[in-house]
Amino acid sequence: MAQVLFISHGSPMEALDQAESASAWRALAGHLERPARIVVVSAHWSGFPVRLTGSQQPATIHDFGGFPEPLYALEYPAPGDPRLARDVACTLSAAGLQACVDPERGLDHGMWVPLRHLYPDADIPVVGVSISVRHDTDWHYRMGRELAQSLDDDTLLICSGSITHNLSDTRGDRHDVAGYVDAFQTWISQHMASRDDATMLDYRRRAPHAERAHPGDEHLLPLFVALGAGDSRAPQRFNAIVLHQALAMDAYLFERASAVQAPAGSHRIRSLVSVGR
Ligand code: ZN
Repeated sequence: MAQVLFISHGSPMEALDQAESASAWRALAGHLERPARIVVVSAHWSGFPVRLTGSQQPATIHDFGGFPEPLYALEYPAPGDPRLARDVACTLSAAGLQACVDPERGLDHGMWVPLRHLYPDADIPVVGVSISVRHDTDWHYRMGRELAQSLDDDTLLICSGSITHNLSDTRGDRHDVAGYVDAFQTWISQHMASRDDATMLDYRRRAPHAERAHPGDEHLLPLFVALGAGDSRAPQRFNAIVLHQALAMDAYLFERASAVQAPAGSHRIRSLVSVGR
């Protein structure tokens, strides 16, 4: 079973070393086993059929505008893994989810910004995977289940989105947390701790302030891929900071199915960095 990680990628500015989430991500990397290959599902790529990057050397895509010039000079030159991309596309298609390989597409910032901190040497092959905004949370949960079937123990599956994502509410460098952000972030963490997947899949109707926390679904859909792919126990929670008042940066690392069962009631919820709370 692959390692499964959900990560909130924040703003493209998190790519720069001075960004405060950088130290939290580097600490998170210390909890990961070094994988032989990485598959990363990004909120910044949507398509149906589901797309997978099939390039031998995927380009670094600077898919943002209006940021400082140094951001556009950053590269993440990890190799691709075209054979893995084909194998995963076949598995998803055989399960009726429809997937295909895109030989031209590179790695978007939802992929390379956190990878730059988790694995700065860029020496592990990476395959990017799209979401499909035409499909709902249940469909992405099933996509996660099928992905888990197709990936071996030496693979790290990263699902990259954001626990809250309303860009019209972001405010410069200020770290005050908007009240609705705190309520939504807490609701997710409580349901992750109890692994009430059915309630989370219905978050649009049942979570507090869902419409404001997520004007669109795209940044939360990767969480449902991770829930479908990961072990059914409560994941570890990392990096509960909120950037720019509105971007909750939580990451969740799922246990492997073969790991030793933790004693009842001993969910390991950790916050390596907690500021502005
Ligand atoms: Zn994003």
